[in-house]
Amino acid sequence: MSRVLIIGAGGVGNVVVKKCAQHPDVFREICLASRTKEKCDVIADDIKERYGTTITTARVDADKVPELVTLMNAFKPDLVVNVALPYQDLTIMDACLEAGVNYLDTANYEPKDHAHFEYSWQWAYQEKFKKKGLMAVLGCGFDPGVTNIFCAWAQKHLYDSIRAIDILDCNAGDHGHPFATNFNPEINIREVTQTVRHWQEGQWIETPAILDAGCVHFTFDYPVAGPRESYLLYHEEMESLVKHINGLERIRFWMTFSQPYITHLQVLENVGMTRINAVEFEGRKIIPLQFLKALLPDPGSLGENYTGKTVIGCVFDGQKDGRQNRKYIYNICDHTEAYREVQAQAVSYTTGVPTMIGAMMMVQGIWKDAGVFNVEQLDPDAFMEALNRYGLPWQVVDFKGILPE
Ligand code: NDP
Repeated sequence: MSRVLIIGAGGVGNVVVKKCAQHPDVFREICLASRTKEKCDVIADDIKERYGTTITTARVDADKVPELVTLMNAFKPDLVVNVALPYQDLTIMDACLEAGVNYLDTANYEPKDHAHFEYSWQWAYQEKFKKKGLMAVLGCGFDPGVTNIFCAWAQKHLYDSIRAIDILDCNAGDHGHPFATNFNPEINIREVTQTVRHWQEGQWIETPAILDAGCVHFTFDYPVAGPRESYLLYHEEMESLVKHINGLERIRFWMTFSQPYITHLQVLENVGMTRINAVEFEGRKIIPLQFLKALLPDPGSLGENYTGKTVIGCVFDGQKDGRQNRKYIYNICDHTEAYREVQAQAVSYTTGVPTMIGAMMMVQGIWKDAGVFNVEQLDPDAFMEALNRYGLPWQVVDFKGILPE
């Protein structure tokens, strides 16, 4: 029985709050806080109507530590779930330290003025959380999140050593818009336009960004979704998995993009709309990517007409009892079913369900420790069971497909 403060009322926030509200035996009191309180109130009214549960709402600017501390001291949560933007990770962690509250998020910190993805800023909080006897769990969505848990489970149950991991993220859905992103457009576009990196034999290898000549891609035959063009991309979970999966020689991350998506993004980049530095426009400074975000569909609104499925998982190549084998662990999630359950598309759903499960692991004391943790450092068994129970069933099969060497 616990009190949880959820910060961020966007596409993912909507799913996390609804999934928590489905378990009043675990999450006794829920407060949803965000920059725009009206968005929290809309979700709260919906929850009242669907589940008969009352949650409280609040306005907070999560860039401001004193505002966060005041809210935490007033609500007295056992756990803060951060599903605002990566820009707010450090201020929310600072406030948690000051108010003495545990912390969980889904994406690593990024400075606003520089699209750079690494855990160093948050790992630097290790001693502070440890000293206070508090726990911070980082990256508990799907990827990062479930993909890391799949790795931890494979390391614990399937292999003596894992040589290579390929994470494959496929969205084979159709939202009916010419161009839209499935989570916050600003964060999404910053991520997919960066220079690509993967880990091989002890070092990071750089390859061209997905829009640049020479970018690496291949056709992967996904379960249910079929053959899809999959692009090599840098994704933050690789940084922590390289540290925590013993003996790993190579890790790569692949994501599907359709040709229309690539073409739109290419044009937007060519005309400067993906820039994150300010430009002068009619006497004021604007950031083109933030302006573009205002024009694109709100990812939280895509769900109603979304059809098709997501297929996200990991292929492992490793040794068990002296024998080499390859296994594939994956989840399939249906956009229409996700919408029916929580009025969200599958990308928000596959992020928000693991966030709720991670929160459950923490408030129930199944994950209990002091310090800062990536999810693969924690025991995966109860989490894997909960995925099957709470909407993201997974399968493990022998992998017979083809991956680039
Ligand atoms: P949205 O843009 O839909 O929602 C973000 C929410 O945060 C909005 O309600 C926004 O408020 C609020 N917010 C932004 N700035 C502040 C602030 N300073 N103070 C308080 N609230 C603020 O994003 P998503 O729901 O799509 O994504 C949420 C998070 O989930 C992101 O960090 C994203 O990177 C992560 N994510 C992780 C995935 C994973 O698998 N690990 C996959 C997908 C997303 P307002 O409404 O006023 O703008």
